[in-house]
Amino acid sequence: MNRATQKFNDILGTIGDTPIVRLNKLAPRHVSLYVKIEAFNPMGSVKDRLALGVIEDAERRGDLKPGQTVVEATSGNTGIGLAMVCAVKGYPLVVTMAENFSIERRKLMRFLGARVVLTPAALKGSGMLAKAVELAQTHGWFLCRQFENEANPDAHSRTTAQEILAAFAGERLDYFVTGFGTGGTLKGVARVLRAQRPETQIIVCEPDNSQLLGSGIPQPRHADRSPAGSHPNFRPHLMQGWSPDFIPRLTEDAVALKLIDRIVPVNGAQSLKLSRELAQQEGIFVGISAGATLSGALTVCEQARPGATVLCMLPDTGERYLSTPLFSEIPVDMTEEELAIARSTPNYRFDAPAAAPSPPPPDAPQAIAPDADAFVKRTITDPGQPVVMFALEWCEFCWSVRRMFAKHEIAYRSVDLDSVEYQKDNRGADIRAALSARTAVSTIPQIFIGGEFIGGCTDVFNAHKDGRLDALLEKHHVAYNRNVRVDAYSFLPSWLHPRA
Ligand code: PMP
Repeated sequence: MNRATQKFNDILGTIGDTPIVRLNKLAPRHVSLYVKIEAFNPMGSVKDRLALGVIEDAERRGDLKPGQTVVEATSGNTGIGLAMVCAVKGYPLVVTMAENFSIERRKLMRFLGARVVLTPAALKGSGMLAKAVELAQTHGWFLCRQFENEANPDAHSRTTAQEILAAFAGERLDYFVTGFGTGGTLKGVARVLRAQRPETQIIVCEPDNSQLLGSGIPQPRHADRSPAGSHPNFRPHLMQGWSPDFIPRLTEDAVALKLIDRIVPVNGAQSLKLSRELAQQEGIFVGISAGATLSGALTVCEQARPGATVLCMLPDTGERYLSTPLFSEIPVDMTEEELAIARSTPNYRFDAPAAAPSPPPPDAPQAIAPDADAFVKRTITDPGQPVVMFALEWCEFCWSVRRMFAKHEIAYRSVDLDSVEYQKDNRGADIRAALSARTAVSTIPQIFIGGEFIGGCTDVFNAHKDGRLDALLEKHHVAYNRNVRVDAYSFLPSWLHPRA
């Protein structure tokens, strides 16, 4: 079905049907290497499939009631998928996540309306799982149990596997390569391929420094089959979303069902490198586990006979990793090479030290509109709202003050001079002129407390530092959170930090 000509009832209908794309540069010539790009799912990962599958299964079974809270332990992608599904279906969502997973993930979930409860990195995957179980038991929430819920592999048997069968109908498919997080992709796809394409070998990758399956050591389990602590071979590794510190039940099922033909250990640094190479050589922008799966697939390719066809899963988008080692070598400032390009033209030399600015022409004496002046006076002396900021909607300094006020829970009035409200008859400009005439300052923002002019952004931050702000807020009976102790300058975006 061509998506472009299809209409969907809601975003959930767009989950799955991800493209399978040939690698033309990274693959050795003697094989055909294809990748299935799960970043095309609406929230950018393979876990959108499981999120929808688990929630709709629970609805069908009556395990999830309208408006009931959903809770799950997740390294991120499941939480992001669930946050989308819960937003559409109206379930509150609480996610437990170890604090060492990338902050993009936390922020994305919160952006989608979920609550994120962090658990200590030292307690690993088991710690976040234990917290989720306890929350579900304490509050009567619905726990998704992605590591053991059959709805997880079922979603893959019903969607991912069928897409693969259709794409390779009438063609050879010699190898299917995947990693495992829960093992949902593995179990769900592999069992369908075993039944319908028995010639296809199933290859499972795992981190070379944390070989759980490869060790052959069984996962210690309680009587109810839940994991009893970490697997003895688990070590922290770079592939977020892969191999938790225990062998999940769904993964163990795949082993027991003899669905795995070969286990390939994969190196972390090589995975990061291949993720970057996918971007830079194939234009395919994906995450670390995708580079890792490709690394395993390339090992398979090396040993495959000529003409073999290999399919490799790429589980998520690269945008989820901006704050991780994947991007650690990607500079923020211009490199020497970029500086050389910048210097290679005669004009627009933004890299050169700025010439001393010419003094601004003296302001033409400007008539102050009396009603604008009256507005300023009325606003700054309003006893109902002692803290006032004259601001611009898109000014970074204004946003820094807003962030600082929000952190300290300081209520304030923001007069946004460039907002629609003040555009009519150029009223914003009149107010700004009246303000400048009063304060002798022409820049924005300008902040007042109880009619007293504090200054601009850095003046407010300095007043916060030396205690004057606290004193003024108290004097004017403004409630604020006194327990917050942060350097106000941290609210400035880094490119606005005053240089030492
Ligand atoms: N890669 C990433 C980035 C993931 O988030 C996950 C799921 N945790 C996987 C791979 C593995 O998928 P599955 O849970 O189906 O084994």
